Amino acid sequence: MTEPRNNCLICGGELAYADTLEPKMCNYCGQDFESQAVCTEGHFIRDVCHASPAIEIIRKSCQHSTSLNPVRLATGIMKHPAVKMHGPEHHFLVPAVLLSCYYNRTGQRDQLEEKLAQAEKRSGFIPGGFCGSHGNCGAAVGTGIFISLVTGYLYIPEQGH
Ligand SMILES: [Zn+2]
Ligand SMILES: [Zn+2]
Repeated sequence: MTEPRNNCLICGGELAYADTLEPKMCNYCGQDFESQAVCTEGHFIRDVCHASPAIEIIRKSCQHSTSLNPVRLATGIMKHPAVKMHGPEHHFLVPAVLLSCYYNRTGQRDQLEEKLAQAEKRSGFIPGGFCGSHGNCGAAVGTGIFISLVTGYLYIPEQGH
């Protein structure tokens, strides 16, 4: 990873170093961890999350988020260096943020983990470069995955049809 470590991943602000170790909640996974470094806006990211691959960051962030705003949630996740400008991780990112905010809104967070796992599996059927070969962005197909999951359509094709 060549990303400079001296600015906040979430807001780009400068990191400030406290004199003592204090428990901080990671902005991606929601876990508490002791750290001396936080940005001036109070964001904190554990090293393990800083170095996580895109799918893991999407899964963890959407599992712990209490957001009701999927665009804001997606934007925060897309700032992570593992989430590329173009890449098949967006096929999972879209249904994941929609599921997270939907279940936060309906108060059914107990369903979130299983639905996120289903979304991860289904979005895995959409290959990279799908827009070029099928005329529809894989991330847009992700909105259909979201609707299928919240309306209870549970069939998963084995052979792609
Ligand atoms: Zn920040
Ligand atoms: Zn974390």
